[in-house]
Amino acid sequence: MRVEIINTGTELMLGGTVNTHLAFIARELFPLGLRVQRQVTVPDGEAIRDAVRDTFGKADIVLVTGGLGPTTDDLTRDIVAELLGLKLEHDEEIWLAIQERFRRRALKMSERVKLQALRPREATVLWNPHGTAPGLHFPAISEMGTPHIFLLPGPPRELMPMVREKLVPILAKLLPPGAVHEWRNFRVLGIGESLVEEKVGEELIAMGLEVGYCARPGEVDVRLIGTVPVLDRAEALVRERLGKWIFTSDERELPNVVVEKLTALGKTIATAESCTGGFIANQLTNVPGASKVFLAGYVTYANSAKTAALGVDAALIAANGAVSEPVARQMAEGALENTGANFALATTGIAGPDGGTAEKPVGTVFVALAVRGAVTLVQHHRFPTDRETFKSLVSQTALDLLLRQLDGRDTAPAETFSPGDGGCGGQA
Ligand code: ATP
Ligand code: MG
Repeated sequence: MRVEIINTGTELMLGGTVNTHLAFIARELFPLGLRVQRQVTVPDGEAIRDAVRDTFGKADIVLVTGGLGPTTDDLTRDIVAELLGLKLEHDEEIWLAIQERFRRRALKMSERVKLQALRPREATVLWNPHGTAPGLHFPAISEMGTPHIFLLPGPPRELMPMVREKLVPILAKLLPPGAVHEWRNFRVLGIGESLVEEKVGEELIAMGLEVGYCARPGEVDVRLIGTVPVLDRAEALVRERLGKWIFTSDERELPNVVVEKLTALGKTIATAESCTGGFIANQLTNVPGASKVFLAGYVTYANSAKTAALGVDAALIAANGAVSEPVARQMAEGALENTGANFALATTGIAGPDGGTAEKPVGTVFVALAVRGAVTLVQHHRFPTDRETFKSLVSQTALDLLLRQLDGRDTAPAETFSPGDGGCGGQA
């Protein structure tokens, strides 16, 4: 089924009103397996005529929003009826409902309000308990090649319930059985987009699914759209091939997953940050409920602070440099000792643009995870990028390391990495 949306309203063209109807309707149609193939915005008035006529023979379902009101620029109803060769007639039932609405609110009615009670006999009324003008459904006329046309009110508080309660049930009946789609999303960390695709892409497409990848710095989303039985088979495949890298199969962000996991396990965390400057602590404390798991965050930028606050051996720093494996280890262990937490994360690295050497080029970073009652894990990475991206990649790596430990997944450093410039795409 080909769906087109026509949003009408001069205010949409002037920039005064953001067209939220498109996003809302697209989301509501999605579970039906319907995708909007084209959308046009036109000003109030005659422009609606061409926009509607353009859909004939090209679309199966056309949704027109706005222009059902009583003012002279509200022409949608008249124009669509005229295009279809249908005569508008007074509908007494609509008229009674309108009068009742005005009476209940003790509002004065203008003569023009009566225009909203007009409809062709061939159109079905979509009752509007939140406003005056009802919606209308003009069924497809096969001899004319016209689609099913739905006229929907402009005000969002009228349109939204009408879409959910009236439009969606009608569309569901128009669709062939078995067409209803779902989507699933798997978020992976520690493997690049192309490798993700190599591991699952071909087989997922062969299953007849719509497959989309969304690559952000360090992480990749794999989004699958299809019918439930096929998705169940696909999910088993994705989990088998990519399970090691999946940090969540819902929409949550990494810090939320970490905080919620720590909460569920009743464990606590502290941070000792140098190059991330508190970014990990910031991300963790952005999550509601962080106070149950986050004990303290140190930002120890200077060597002297690493020694004073975390007990890092000054001689160790002198011998290895602040950006080194043993210093990262001692920072994490110092935070663990000081706070009594179950876990402590530490970061020390060279964000750049200056400060790199041949041995430790810009982007070099050590991430440590101290675990109460177990050995401290330290990873070495290189993220040569701008300072802000560097901080977010290092934070992500640290949180991923912790989550892997909590999940009992492999904690070895990733071999491949999503540079995150792949953008989001999909293929059917
Ligand atoms: P009314 O009886 O209020 O005239 P109507 O069905 O004629 O209803 P419009 O006049 O087109 O609808 O729009 C009414 C209001 O709804 C607009 O002022 C605008 O604020 C809002 N609106 C209309 N279209 C959209 C849209 N696409 N996205 C968001 N808001 C919209
Ligand atoms: Mg109007």
